[in-house]
Amino acid sequence: MKPLQSEHTGINASKGIAIGKAYFLDRDQVVPVKLPIDKGDIDPEILRLKDAIRKSVEAIKDVCSRAAGVLGQTQLYLFDTHILLLEDEMLVGDAIRIIREEKVKAEWAYHLSAEKCIGLFTDTGNEYIQERKNDIEQVKNRVLLNLQDREQENLENIQEPVIIIAHDLQPSDLIQMDKSKILGFIIEEGGRTSHVGIMAAALEIPAVVGLSIQEIGAVNGDAIILDGFSGKVYMNPPSETFKKFLEKKQRVSYYEKKLLENRELPAETKDGYCVKLSANIESSDNPEILRQYGAEGVGLFRTEYLFMNPEGLPQEEEQFHEYRKVTEALQPDPVIIRTLDIGGDKPSSKIDIEPEKNPVLGLRAIRFSFRNPDIFKVQLRAILRASHYGDIKIMFPMISGVDELRRAKNILKETQEELEERGIPFNRNIPIGIMIETPSSASIADLLAKEVDFFSIGTNDLIQYALAVDRGNKDVAYLYKPLHPAVLRMIRNTVREANQADVKVGICGEMGGNSINTMLLLGLGKIDEISMDAHSIPKVKKFIRSITQKEADEFAQKVLDLGSTSEIERFVYNAMAEKFPEDFVEERIFEGIN
Ligand code: PEP
Ligand code: MG
Repeated sequence: MKPLQSEHTGINASKGIAIGKAYFLDRDQVVPVKLPIDKGDIDPEILRLKDAIRKSVEAIKDVCSRAAGVLGQTQLYLFDTHILLLEDEMLVGDAIRIIREEKVKAEWAYHLSAEKCIGLFTDTGNEYIQERKNDIEQVKNRVLLNLQDREQENLENIQEPVIIIAHDLQPSDLIQMDKSKILGFIIEEGGRTSHVGIMAAALEIPAVVGLSIQEIGAVNGDAIILDGFSGKVYMNPPSETFKKFLEKKQRVSYYEKKLLENRELPAETKDGYCVKLSANIESSDNPEILRQYGAEGVGLFRTEYLFMNPEGLPQEEEQFHEYRKVTEALQPDPVIIRTLDIGGDKPSSKIDIEPEKNPVLGLRAIRFSFRNPDIFKVQLRAILRASHYGDIKIMFPMISGVDELRRAKNILKETQEELEERGIPFNRNIPIGIMIETPSSASIADLLAKEVDFFSIGTNDLIQYALAVDRGNKDVAYLYKPLHPAVLRMIRNTVREANQADVKVGICGEMGGNSINTMLLLGLGKIDEISMDAHSIPKVKKFIRSITQKEADEFAQKVLDLGSTSEIERFVYNAMAEKFPEDFVEERIFEGIN
């Protein structure tokens, strides 16, 4: 019988082309039944539940520690979400109450409690809410399996390279798998920012999500083409389609290889202006790999990751070793270590922060460090001590005014004096910088510039705060616009003031790693450094090497003369696509730009 041919469109969640055989990941949901227990069995039943939860937490922590080298901070938070749910007092407390009051087995009690929790999220069709419901569903299934001493089918068992088709995947699945055996993912649940989408992108595995498995109708072994750029999936396609996608795949991989040829060359414009391109990192694992992409040091070391260690808060020694390891590996290039930026959209199961009404405007980043001087000082000591072994710069996050900056500097000074008294070596002239990521700091850049050695513009937060758009809220994501004129003016103002004061200025938000913005950013003033995900460096470098500073200045001036974000976006995309016709074909498809 001829295999069924079909074509489907889902959500393009992770770029790339995959061609291979289908493999269904069979994930039976555990269906609990209501079974009564005797009064005398209540306490043992509660213990059984607690034990299953403990085992679930341990399993996630185990995966999490193995994941630390593979995933970045954003992805590691996904594990934290599951741990927080497993330890959630309401969820567990309610299940225990049901066991006691209704005298039923733990499976049924936990199922009821989880369903109640899911019911609290009203179905609004909102992607974020849907993701949280999926989280509870996944956590519930894990606990129920543990209660029954059953194991899930594991991605570890896959023997040959395949395209996974599944209803949903847990963050832990993606870590347990052997990356060389997974060509792509087709997942029924989720949107672009779902766990699978984020993790697949981090692991550079093409993925399409939001596609009904039933509709695809594929069976194990069916031939599949998955286009992560457009979100299209072709099942048992005709040979012309294969040919077309094989060519496209080759084109993409040839293009990526070609970009790497620039690795050793400087990011220098045709008229001789050099920009340092460095990497954003979240862990101390494999710093050597950054050089393979041409990174000239680290422009942002997000230290929050260390504070997610399942063993508890990191002690001074542990931090010192992590910072020293990265610094020594990258010698003589510099490493900018940012002090803890916890809170807001970066929760941690290791640190208790009282629930806040507006966490993003609350006790996060430097504010958290001021509230917890012990944690802050331990970190400062570790950074200072590591500064003896290489070129370290220290950076404070979320500075909103001069007083706040002075307070941070005073604590740093106190810490330096303490180390001095104890005869511990450190770099007395360690450069001090701040993130410019609030509208207030961008507008008083001239005042702040008098007190620091460098600025690093955090566009991720700057956009969020300037445009009053929660960076994690899908409902308002359409307003999160890096090319909004207000954002561009704030960047220009910051760069100008830094240039005037002879203070170094870099960009470390996502905007700097998106090559569509490269020419524009270079025209907003004299930018010394752009720090980004290391994979993005080769392309940004290619563009810098293809333009002149003069051309970038004129381009930025034209952009700033435009009145609206949509005009700017169109202008920038068209100009870049015209100038670099080969470089934006797939990007435009991925971003849905015509
Ligand atoms: C930023 O806000 O742009 C930034 C780089 O910091 P983070 O994404 O860690 O908040
Ligand atoms: Mg930030």
